[in-house]
Amino acid sequence: MISENYSRKEFPQHVLMIFVDGLGIGEKDKSFNPCADKNISLFNHFLSDDFPKRLDSTGYAIGLDATLGMPGLPQSATGQTALLTGVNAARLLGRHLNHFPNQRLREVIAEKSIFKQFTRCGCKAAFLNTFRPPFFDYDPHEIIKHLAVTTVANLYANLPFFKIDDLLQERSVYHDMTNVSLRELGFDVPLFTPKKAGKIIGKQTTKYHFCLYEYFLTDKAGHSRDLERALKEIFKLEEFLYSVLENVDLNDTLVLLTSDHGNIEDVSVKGHTRNPAMTLIFGKGKENLFPHLHSLSDVTRELLKLNCRH
Ligand SMILES: [Zn+2]
Repeated sequence: MISENYSRKEFPQHVLMIFVDGLGIGEKDKSFNPCADKNISLFNHFLSDDFPKRLDSTGYAIGLDATLGMPGLPQSATGQTALLTGVNAARLLGRHLNHFPNQRLREVIAEKSIFKQFTRCGCKAAFLNTFRPPFFDYDPHEIIKHLAVTTVANLYANLPFFKIDDLLQERSVYHDMTNVSLRELGFDVPLFTPKKAGKIIGKQTTKYHFCLYEYFLTDKAGHSRDLERALKEIFKLEEFLYSVLENVDLNDTLVLLTSDHGNIEDVSVKGHTRNPAMTLIFGKGKENLFPHLHSLSDVTRELLKLNCRH
């Protein structure tokens, strides 16, 4: 049910959530944790550190409980649903669920996604990932079983999906940031550096109250158990995030980077980890935010509080 009590605050701010799949806080050992490389400067946080940890670049690092109080290894469908709805999806199902949300989770996403809740109170929201053909050839409701949490959330909030033309107009970014995989598929698109991708995401953030960008090659690198590949992903993310921070005004924008579960921080194991999800927070409202963030399911509620009255 749509409550009539939702309303936008008088002076809403910009909120950017960067969702990075499979990035946990692990042990400080560069033989299996790419974040322990000496050249890493934004993602060098470890289980032995004290949190919240102040960062040089006016931010904080914290870890979020990704286990959701359930045994076993955290997985994407339940972790992302918890992150993007505020509902403890693993507890709801009685287990962690991998890959794509099932019917029960889709019902939760339809009603409570962060996109739905922001737009319900009058905020402008956008999912800044570019979608490519053949996605638009299908009725998304007919392929819903094959759609990830973020896509389902955007669909049920009735928000548009950005297309290749939006990417060319620099309104959106492909999931790999650089367009390498699009060019391999034959699309006539320019190569972006992670810095360029960060600039586009930063500029777009200033046009909305809430934006989401999703990056999942970190999880794939974690599963590959290839340390070199994992290190490249972390460097790429650093270049991207520095650029995002340069291209927003942190006086009126909050940037939160977080994850659904650990993986890439330990390439000595093939699967996910039970480590805390690495979470970095910069900009307006950060001090009020981090004391309330303990688990994945705290994120949606706290981000909504920045712009909405309930
Ligand atoms: Zn995974």
